[in-house]
Amino acid sequence: MEAPKPPDAQPFPSRRVLLGALPALAVAGVAACASGDSGDSGKDAEKILEAAGPPPRPADPDGAIAALMEGNDRFAARTPKVRQVADIEVLWTKLEAGQAPFATVLGCADSRLAPELIFDQFVGDVFVVREAGNIADSPTSLGSLEFSQAALGSKAIVVLGHSSCGAVQAAFDDATPGGNIQAIVDAIRPGITGAADLDEAITANVLAVIERIRAKSAVLAEAENAGECAIVGAVYDLTSGRVRLL
Ligand SMILES: [Zn+2]
Repeated sequence: MEAPKPPDAQPFPSRRVLLGALPALAVAGVAACASGDSGDSGKDAEKILEAAGPPPRPADPDGAIAALMEGNDRFAARTPKVRQVADIEVLWTKLEAGQAPFATVLGCADSRLAPELIFDQFVGDVFVVREAGNIADSPTSLGSLEFSQAALGSKAIVVLGHSSCGAVQAAFDDATPGGNIQAIVDAIRPGITGAADLDEAITANVLAVIERIRAKSAVLAEAENAGECAIVGAVYDLTSGRVRLL
């Protein structure tokens, strides 16, 4: 089915080919989110962000991952960048025309895992998708990840688990919480089979989710193969504040 192309649907003309590969709903329904409702779709959001003055945005997957890890170094060292309300106000104005997050984080919904804080990033820097157990087990979650890459140009997708994850613990313990929580446990369990302890299970879950993304998202698998977007795993340590790449 040919995807409808409303005037505001393609804030990044260079990505029209990839956008065309997305389901119609993902393009038409979510595009307003990317372009805002200003109707100013002709503006190039990346140029606007450059003009806003922050440091140059990473141009490739390696640069995107390095920028995140440098941010985590600042966070773990208790030396995050100092940002004033005025800085945020400037970006609010600039970002009204569009967004160009340089990275995507698929993180657990755990309240201690706020990606912008632990990677010391700012408004508009990181596209965040969060679910208990960082599982991306639904088409909607996968669609969000695809949108961040295909429509917004994210250079890296980081699947982020964390120590003491309750969702992985429940799966590791073969818990049966029932309700819709059960779906989370059931989604995690196959990927952690054979894990010797919780830490091993947390790592195994991240790696299993990466494989799920590659298997269920042709858009992201192709982007990864083309070198346009890296898909990497990481685990955040609640005690040290450090993120470890897998
Ligand atoms: Zn968790």
